[in-house]
Amino acid sequence: MSTQSSTKAFQEAQELIPGGVNSPVRAFKSVGGTPIFIGKGEGGHIVDIDGNKYVDFVQSWGPLIFGHRDESIEKAVIEAVKHGLSFGAPTLAETELAKLVVSFFDSIDKVRFVSSGTEAVMSAIRLARGFTGRDDILKFTGCYHGHSDALLVEAGSGAATFGTPSSPGVPADFTKHTLLAEYNNIESVKKCFEDSRDIACVIIEPIAGNMGLVPADKEFLLALRKLCDENGTLLIFDEVMSGFRASISGAESLVGVKPDILTLGKVIGGGMPVGAFGARAEIMNMLSPDGPVYQAGTLSGNPVAMAAGFAALSKLKKNSRVMAVLQERATRLVSGMKEAANSYGITMQTDVRGSMFGFFFNENEVKNFADAASSDAALFAKFHAGMLEEGFYFACSLYETGFISTATTDAMIEETIAASQKVFKAIKNG
Ligand SMILES: *Cc1c(COP(=O)(O)O)cnc(C)c1O
Repeated sequence: MSTQSSTKAFQEAQELIPGGVNSPVRAFKSVGGTPIFIGKGEGGHIVDIDGNKYVDFVQSWGPLIFGHRDESIEKAVIEAVKHGLSFGAPTLAETELAKLVVSFFDSIDKVRFVSSGTEAVMSAIRLARGFTGRDDILKFTGCYHGHSDALLVEAGSGAATFGTPSSPGVPADFTKHTLLAEYNNIESVKKCFEDSRDIACVIIEPIAGNMGLVPADKEFLLALRKLCDENGTLLIFDEVMSGFRASISGAESLVGVKPDILTLGKVIGGGMPVGAFGARAEIMNMLSPDGPVYQAGTLSGNPVAMAAGFAALSKLKKNSRVMAVLQERATRLVSGMKEAANSYGITMQTDVRGSMFGFFFNENEVKNFADAASSDAALFAKFHAGMLEEGFYFACSLYETGFISTATTDAMIEETIAASQKVFKAIKNG
């Protein structure tokens, strides 16, 4: 397999763009390879600029639940483009998408659209602080909530990959209100509530996808809900990744725990840049122009992005079986890979939530970030490189979640398992 054009393109990009990429995790740093440059996508595949074809388990890091170039999303975007790219004034598409989004979740009455997950979470935190009149926030080690200052503390994924849990350029003053607790450990949360009487909100990925896939225990989320209620603290579910990915109606439908504020992104834009945050009316009415909490965006609710999101979500709405089918397929994938690994004496921990799958090369079960970090990174790097060479594109960090789409066929899953067999064998034989 030649990746000559990608290598050349990467060199050129590095001269003009820091690290050659516009988001750090794309740089393949943690697996030590050179990123491939993508020419096009088609269904469950991507094709690089050298013409190599790969089964895509990244799916743009989540958004493309119907795969590349889904016909109805593509058509909706092209139609919207013909009416104009942006107006900065209300359009019907925003209300249509809002109605659809709200219909999926019991916990939200109103929603506001932004252009990224980062923006959604940043705004949700401001709203929680404005609503409660408190300053402190509590987050969990290994959960990623975008790259805004106050949340860039022990933030998993890209940050963990680079060993910089917090970043230079973030003044200590900006994170002094950010308390940290350990995922799936309620005692560590109780301790934070003892330390501070001023916690505006607890923010959590109820199905964490940024330290690999590590779902929160139901009992943990129930206890978290109770602690928040007892302390007048809002509970924020950051479902930018898991929303419309782990289940159609959010983690709340899986675990029976409702958040006060919900943040969404990725799938909600069908591949276009969209984020959103929603809550019950009482909370959302605090937002400007109805209330005093300011939040705004020139391209928020962009009509082309709204059209893509509407096409994606209405397809999900019409086809409620889709998540069960995806879950079956993802389960087959990880159990097949695990079997292959085991047959060469390699231990693998696996998990699946809807169309999300995760695996760790670890002897022990993974319940939090420290567990995830104890996985075999060198083995992961070999697995990643081997699978890439075979034509299977996995996320280039052990701290990422894998995704399948409706275009990821059973045949592709079987091909992947067969390739993993070959790769594990090669790894075992050194
Ligand atoms: C991806 C992600 C974000 C950030 O979204 P961007 O669109 O990359 O800004 C926030 N929270 C979670 C849980 C995410 O997975």
